[in-house]
Amino acid sequence: MADQALAARYHEVRARIEAACGQAGRSVDDITLVVVTKFHPPSLVRDLVELGVEHVGESRHQEAVAKHQELSDLRLTWHFVGQLQSNKARAVAEYCQVIHSIDRASVVQKLGTIDHTVEGFIEINLTGDPGRGGVEPEQLGQLVDTVLETPQIALRGLMAVAPQDQAPAAAFERVVALQDVVTSRAPLATDLSLGMTGDFEEAIQAGATHLRIGSAITGNRPPAP
Ligand SMILES: *Cc1c(COP(=O)(O)O)cnc(C)c1O
Repeated sequence: MADQALAARYHEVRARIEAACGQAGRSVDDITLVVVTKFHPPSLVRDLVELGVEHVGESRHQEAVAKHQELSDLRLTWHFVGQLQSNKARAVAEYCQVIHSIDRASVVQKLGTIDHTVEGFIEINLTGDPGRGGVEPEQLGQLVDTVLETPQIALRGLMAVAPQDQAPAAAFERVVALQDVVTSRAPLATDLSLGMTGDFEEAIQAGATHLRIGSAITGNRPPAP
């Protein structure tokens, strides 16, 4: 049986999502909750599945591929949310159905050599620090074009992490303002992967369709393996 504290946190987060949807005049059915399980053992993922979780997110290939292998009996959609190096892109696409962190042409080119389709989000870098993950907003249009030339990627929309030093609502508004760059080229790519433990209610208000929530549900993360 799933551990009681985990169950309580999960139900509490679900209730907060429902309340935030109510306040924003949105339907919970339009929200996909991705529970980010990085650094946690496979047993926690099993407990989450017992609670009804259908989407999990991981951020490191080596850890994720091992976990996925151990849990291959479970019916789950796997999301890759961490920074993605182009030399790992093909391997990640073997077990993740959704990649949230497409941020450069070299990753797109590698994904263009797989023999199946993955869903993809383009990650925007909101920090102003080019060393962080995400494409610079000025380069977004060009990257969208590259993705759209790649039939292996079904583009869903944009993803971002709100920077620590900014109000999340303002950060998310910047992402929403960039949506035109995507939808003018790909009218169906309207999804938004925004919102983590500290800011998912603001993300729902801003229009997020995918929440990537870790510690509010899983409890504190163990140190990185
Ligand atoms: C770890 C992580 C999350 C979840 O973070 P929490 O603050 O624990 O909810 C979401 N998105 C990305 C990209 C992450 O790396």
